[in-house]
Amino acid sequence: MKQIVFISLLLITIGVFSYSVWVLYSYFRLTRKACPVKQTGKRIWMTLEYAIFQKSIFRNPVAGFMHALVFWGFLVILVGSIEVVIDGVAGLEKSLSFLGIIYDILMAAGDISAYFIALFIIVFIIRRCCMNIKRLHGKELSKKNHQDAYFALALIFTLMITLIGMNVFYLLSQPEILGVYPVSQMVAPMFASVPEGTSLFLYEFNWWAHIVLIFFFANILPYSKHFHIFMSIPNVFLGRLEPLGKLYNMECITKEVKLMLNPETAYAAADSDQPVERFGVLDAEDANWKNYLDSLTCTQCGRCASVCPANLTGKELSPRKLFIDLRKRMKEKGKHIVRQGKDYTDGKSLVGDIITLPEIWACTTCNACAKECPLSINHPSFIIDMRRYLVMEKSAAPAELNGIFANIENNGAPWQYSKDDRLKWTE
Ligand code: SF4
Ligand code: SF4
Repeated sequence: MKQIVFISLLLITIGVFSYSVWVLYSYFRLTRKACPVKQTGKRIWMTLEYAIFQKSIFRNPVAGFMHALVFWGFLVILVGSIEVVIDGVAGLEKSLSFLGIIYDILMAAGDISAYFIALFIIVFIIRRCCMNIKRLHGKELSKKNHQDAYFALALIFTLMITLIGMNVFYLLSQPEILGVYPVSQMVAPMFASVPEGTSLFLYEFNWWAHIVLIFFFANILPYSKHFHIFMSIPNVFLGRLEPLGKLYNMECITKEVKLMLNPETAYAAADSDQPVERFGVLDAEDANWKNYLDSLTCTQCGRCASVCPANLTGKELSPRKLFIDLRKRMKEKGKHIVRQGKDYTDGKSLVGDIITLPEIWACTTCNACAKECPLSINHPSFIIDMRRYLVMEKSAAPAELNGIFANIENNGAPWQYSKDDRLKWTE
């Protein structure tokens, strides 16, 4: 009976999760190409450095250390969760215990992790609600964003409490103990007066509560900022290898230039007649797949905004907001495009209606945000693409830039002087 209930719950979880993934996949299909992913070796190294060893998070040593321990703790606890699933499906008890000493080490690490994660989650909640940490309270964060953060923290805390409950009452209710649970072994004597039958019930209760919460958590993650639990490692792997300041050329423009310089080239001949659908980014579907992946990965931690010179000097721009807006906009418009086709419009657009022109032009392209982001999210390239749309399709650059563009066109330089006068200074 236990197995049937467990397998039914697991199938429902897999079904709902697959549906969420399918919806996200259909949104990815609307996005545009990004630079090809090459240099796998370098990318693996970058993933180890930034995702697994959490290099950039240690810039803030105290919060960074706690966050890194929570991340590593989760990785260890994941093994225990896999074991619970195997046990539930196969009707076994501690199915991975055949691993011997490795099992003991994993269980001990998981047990220790559960306690410090529970403790750090309390610290995170106190930091968030009682300490005035500016980066956690930007005006771009809605009430829903804050509720999402508290809800996920409360859920993780409950997950850890049920894991601790599982371990403590396992020690009290079982005649033979498989695995090592160092902290729970110290805690268990406090509950020694609980009758054996009740301990067994509490063990079973925590076991079920723990796994049902995992299933529930897995299914709300795709709709939460905590989706970064799944997305952060792939996003770091797919992150940028080139220097942050390097701008990507637009492929359609490169083709045009090559065609002008050498009409014979095979490169220019290949689909050069294809009309360009859009220069830059106007709406969510014009973003490339990496921009959209970035938006799903963002944890809304605000580290980017806390170093942004535009944001710090009171301008409209918050780099964090850009990706919150992109994710929301894709959710809002993407489902209609999927159903009704690419021509669907709701009379709004990301650029102009949701991300305003003052935000887009406030960026200095200093790249501080991209450097600070622990998840390799790249804001400036997205901002540049929105500017490309404004300049190339709308001629809507700020007046100062229009002057520069006119000078480049007429004089081949941003200054107001003729090319012929360029060397006059030598005289
Ligand atoms: S690149 Fe732009 S958005 Fe990023 S920190 Fe600099 S000014 Fe802010
Ligand atoms: S873009 Fe990066 S630094 Fe900024 S809020 Fe998101 S995760 Fe944090």
